[in-house]
Amino acid sequence: QDRIMLGPLVAAIDQGTSSTRFLVFNAKTAELLSHHQVEIKQSFPKEGWVEEDPKEILQSVYECMDKTCEKLTQLNIDISNIKAIGVTNQRETTIVWDKETGEPLYNAIVWLDLRTQSTVERLINKTPGRNKNHLKHKTGLPISTYFSAVKLRWLMDNVDEVSEAIHSHKAMFGTVDSWLIWCLTGGKNGGVHCTDVTNASRTMLFNIHTLDWDPELCSYFGIPMEVLPKVRSSSEIYGLMKSGSLTGIPISGCLGDQSAALVGQMCFQDGQAKNTYGTGCFLLRNTGPKPVMSDHGLLTTIAYQLGRDKPACYALEGSVAIAGAVVRWLKDNLGIIQTLSELEKLAAAVGTSYGCYFVPAFSGLYAPYWEPSARGIICGLTQFTNRSHIAFAALEAVCFQTRELMDAMNQDSGIPLTQLQVDGGMTSNRLLMQLQADILCIPVVKPSMPETTALGAAMAAGSAEGVSVWSLNLEDLSEVTSEKFEPQINPEESEFRYARWKKAVQKCMNWET
Ligand code: ADP
Repeated sequence: QDRIMLGPLVAAIDQGTSSTRFLVFNAKTAELLSHHQVEIKQSFPKEGWVEEDPKEILQSVYECMDKTCEKLTQLNIDISNIKAIGVTNQRETTIVWDKETGEPLYNAIVWLDLRTQSTVERLINKTPGRNKNHLKHKTGLPISTYFSAVKLRWLMDNVDEVSEAIHSHKAMFGTVDSWLIWCLTGGKNGGVHCTDVTNASRTMLFNIHTLDWDPELCSYFGIPMEVLPKVRSSSEIYGLMKSGSLTGIPISGCLGDQSAALVGQMCFQDGQAKNTYGTGCFLLRNTGPKPVMSDHGLLTTIAYQLGRDKPACYALEGSVAIAGAVVRWLKDNLGIIQTLSELEKLAAAVGTSYGCYFVPAFSGLYAPYWEPSARGIICGLTQFTNRSHIAFAALEAVCFQTRELMDAMNQDSGIPLTQLQVDGGMTSNRLLMQLQADILCIPVVKPSMPETTALGAAMAAGSAEGVSVWSLNLEDLSEVTSEKFEPQINPEESEFRYARWKKAVQKCMNWET
């Protein structure tokens, strides 16, 4: 059979918290040609701890690559047309490995993990005025369990293998992007140890103004700078694939998952925003080439830097720790659904929470509160409440948390959002999308190609200098179609429910202190 002639293709590795995907796009049309996805095991060795196995993460990438290449071959698409690979990843998740053996020295500590809560409290207590924003002028971030520096500090203090490897100059630290790029470009046999500015901006060791590791921050956390990866832009050739079906292909894009989604949603203009509903929920608003510091509990982070000679663009970010994770919890811990997609039907059966509010503060509360000692509650229960109401309350919780982010964002920027662009695994839930429009009182717009995170990484990879098979022109993607959910309830009803939610949030504060 004849090979299908498509021109250049660009691939993306999308390594998320709950799964890994490999996707191949047509560089001319942005059409998704084929993909494969593998679930990632999460372990919870103690209360509040969340770990993943770095080798399983790497294996899942190879498996997804192989399976996708097989599928393309079956479609008569020549995989030698793949010209570049982009990487996008769960951010902040921390890995330390031995550069001589190539072996991880501990499991990956996942961003959601709370084991560093006491370290964080100690650090905050030491700051003048017990100020969690003590390092914000450089990092854009509050001191929190969320970011990599405290996780790395914990590994140095509690894992002998890590402290010994650091002592004998064999240790390498990285977020998931660094780990994958190092392994894929040769590992212990000459792998490239790098990260991009977006991932670096989530470590608390990176100065978001100078775009470099900050010696003062490193000494604040007691972290030797030699373990850190080299920081590169989000779009340039980092190295070539050294094994597997795509040997020799350049890896030329790297963006933290939320930055990648911003790029994939084409939010290149100052003021454009998107919200991604995955394990957590992340609202990012592009603020252009200047960092804007939030007065309302949002983070200042690097949105992207699409080339070595290009300026960095910044974003304000609202981060919610638990969104899709609450659905997994209803399935795995309570057993009230057997599959994730059953939730929609269960909640739709009642169409109301009947006054029940569910605050899933499993990992404390992130934006806008940054309260690690908060814990989850389900309240407003009556004899009448059943599992459908709780399912509905769980979906509403995701919407209320997004409303809090949007309010903070509107206050910081002074220009209210008039619609919200959305993506992520949870957006397949149409009831959630409608509820979200109802609770925000603005339309919610979902692109029909849901893999915007991977698309963003592919765009960065395909447009890198030396690859240049993808132009970032918006016109090229004028065919992007989307679905719009309009608000259907009256604003008074919406405000009433939101006020109740706020009351519920206050009840779960300071639970652990
Ligand atoms: P991540 O990038 O964080 O791994 P994804 O964007 O892949 O996340 O989305 C996965 C999340 O979406 C999971 O937490 C899962 O519980 C949730 N999810 C998947 N399908 C549904 C659904 N039909 N309804 C509600 N939540 C869902």
